[in-house]
Amino acid sequence: AGCGVVSDGSANSGSTKNNAGSAAGGKDDKIVIGMSMDTLKEERWQKDRDLFTAKVEELGGEVKVLAANGDDATQLSQAEQLISQGVDVLVVIAHNAEATAPIVEKAHKEGIKVIAYDRLIKNSDVDYYISFDNVRVGEFQARAVTEAAPKGNIVYIGGADTDNNAHMFKEGAMSVLKPLEEKGDIKIVYDQFSKDWKPEEALKNMENALTANNNDVQGVVAANDGTAGGVIQALTAQGMAGKIPVSGQDADLAAVQRIAEGSQLMTVYKPIKSIATTAAEMAVSAAKGEEVKADKTVNNGKIDVPSVLLDPIPVDKDSLNVVIEDGFHKLEDVYKNVP
Ligand code: BGC
Repeated sequence: AGCGVVSDGSANSGSTKNNAGSAAGGKDDKIVIGMSMDTLKEERWQKDRDLFTAKVEELGGEVKVLAANGDDATQLSQAEQLISQGVDVLVVIAHNAEATAPIVEKAHKEGIKVIAYDRLIKNSDVDYYISFDNVRVGEFQARAVTEAAPKGNIVYIGGADTDNNAHMFKEGAMSVLKPLEEKGDIKIVYDQFSKDWKPEEALKNMENALTANNNDVQGVVAANDGTAGGVIQALTAQGMAGKIPVSGQDADLAAVQRIAEGSQLMTVYKPIKSIATTAAEMAVSAAKGEEVKADKTVNNGKIDVPSVLLDPIPVDKDSLNVVIEDGFHKLEDVYKNVP
């Protein structure tokens, strides 16, 4: 998942054809952006959808959204539906990094550019990728947990194996954990993905981790707030919640409340407004056949994809004001359960 090669975003789209020719705006027609979503389950995705749509509308376009409820075949057929409805650009939040590659091919046959949103589409000629620096997300999580638990047994509860991001979060976390393990400070005693990012899968994983180690666990790196919820449920059942550090990601309301209460150590806040509005600008530019600004590249196994990577922000109980000041959550909601 390397990045860093600088490209100016204009000379990089050799893979697609005549976008300018098929672009909207030539006649009277409105720009239509298709948005093919994996799921709306985690809280963030509703914000992604709403903020993306609002920005495209502000720019004079329209968005058609379909969500696949975590099913590869559904996502493929929904994307085909959007393609056949003649969208100008397709934005894809992939359930499965590999299985979405045919969507790119189908779109390109119709001269439609594809933007991978938040999650990379692997082994494809996808035109653009916009996300956060996901390796850093994992580094933040592991660093916070091992600062709170510098010695002992550490559990890694990952996300969905099918999501490229889950691998990047893990790569980042392991880049912090492995050297500490080599030094003999910590031991990674459990390391599993959680199918489809389900909290109940994370709960099962955490129960297994606790059983296998006779509850001798000093810290848990959980890949997002949903999985952290499952982990904390398992810890609660053993009377361990709040006694050992647990990481998360997304600044879900339930998670920031747990941070305020003390059962979760931290989360990684990713300003959804930034990704949604930047992606909307990229999509509308691409639809008009204009230059799309993407200052990095990320290799997806086939090509170096012109990419925009935004900065994630670690948040713990001392910095919860970050999400409040950014308008992500209201103060009274965050501290609702704190006397
Ligand atoms: C996203 C996370 C999210 C997870 C589960 C990942 O690809 O980057 O923000 O928590 O998917 O939906």
